[in-house]
Amino acid sequence: MNSTQIKEIKELLSVPKKIVLIPHKNPDGDAIGSTLGLRQYLEGLGHNATVISPNEYPGFLKWIPGEEGIIKYDSDTDLATSKIKEADLIFTLDFNDLSRTGIMEQVLANTKTTYIMIDHHQQPSDYATYMYSDVSMSSTCQMIYHFIEKLDDLDKITADIATCIYIGIMTDTGSFRFRSTTSTTHRVVSDLIDKGADNTRIHEKIYDTNTLSRLQLKGVALKNLTVLPEYKTAYITLSQKELDDHNFKKGDTEGFVNIALSIAGIVFAAIFIENRGEKIIKISFRSKGVFSVNEFSRNHFEGGGHHNASGGKSNISLPETVEKFISILPSYKNVLNP
Ligand code: 5GP
Ligand code: MN
Repeated sequence: MNSTQIKEIKELLSVPKKIVLIPHKNPDGDAIGSTLGLRQYLEGLGHNATVISPNEYPGFLKWIPGEEGIIKYDSDTDLATSKIKEADLIFTLDFNDLSRTGIMEQVLANTKTTYIMIDHHQQPSDYATYMYSDVSMSSTCQMIYHFIEKLDDLDKITADIATCIYIGIMTDTGSFRFRSTTSTTHRVVSDLIDKGADNTRIHEKIYDTNTLSRLQLKGVALKNLTVLPEYKTAYITLSQKELDDHNFKKGDTEGFVNIALSIAGIVFAAIFIENRGEKIIKISFRSKGVFSVNEFSRNHFEGGGHHNASGGKSNISLPETVEKFISILPSYKNVLNP
C-alpha cells in the first residue's frame, strides 16, 4: 500500500461512512481480533461500522471487547444483507479470496462498493479497490496496527482495540513462536501492552478454557494419530461420531494438528475432521521448513493459506480422504526428506 493509496483512504475516512468489516468463514482469533479492533478504531473516527461474520466462531473468543455486536450472516441473513447493500465501504480481513466467506461469496461479488483488503495469506485474488497484502506479516492483526500507524493514528488505539489486536497476533504466531514472529512483531506487542492489553489475562481467557470432554476428545485424536516415518508425516482423524461422543463445540480441535507436528523428525502434519452437516472433511495442514502446505492444499484439497499452515477440504468420505492423502505422499518424498 503506497502513500497515494494511504492518502486516498485517509480522504475516504475523513467523512462519516457506513462501513462493514468481514472476517473469513469459521473465523479464528486473528479474523475476529482484526475485524473487532478495526471496527472500534473506525467508530472512534465517527463511522457507523458493523462486523458481519459468515458463521459462528469458537466460544473462547466470546469475551473479546465488542464481540457481542457481531452479526452472523448464516443466522441473521436479512439484516446482514441489507447492511452489506448499504455499505459505502467494505473491509475484508484475514482472507484474500471471496470464496473464503462461504455463503457470503455471491452477495459480496454482486455488491459494487469500495473494498479494502487487509491480509497476510499467499496469492491474493483481485477483487479489492485497495489491497494491503503482505505474506511476511505474522497476522492480519499486526497489519491492522501498521494500517492505523500509516494513518498516523496510533494514539487512537484504546485498551480495547489493543486487546483485540493482541489476540490475533498471539493466536496466529502460536504465542510468538512461529517464524513469522519478528522483532517488529514484539515491538508492536510491547506497544499494545503499554496501551492497555492485559497479556496474562488474554492468555488465560483464550487458552485455559478446556472442558473435560474436550480433553477426552484430544485423547481420541492422539489415539488416532498415525505416523508415516518414510514421509516424515503424521496425521490425525476425527469422525463425526467421535466428535458427537465428546460434545464437540467449534474451536475444540484448535491446536490438535500442532501436536502431530511436534513429534521429533516430523515435518508435515494433517488433521482430517468429518463434518456431516456440510458433507465435507475439513482439513488442516502444518509443516516445518521448505515443504509448502499452501501449494499442497491448493493442488490437492481445494484450499490454501500460508507456507507452513494451510487448510482445505474434501468431498469424499473420511477413509477415502485419508487414502487419497497417503497416495499423494510418494510424489513429495524428496521434498519431505531434503
Ligand atoms: P486452520 O488449519 O487453522 O483452519 O487454517 C490454517 C490457515 O489456512 C489459516 O490461515 C486459514 O485462514 C487458512 N485456511 C484454512 N482453511 C482454508 C481453506 O479452505 N482455503 C484457504 N484458501 N485457506 C484456508
Ligand atoms: Mn491470520
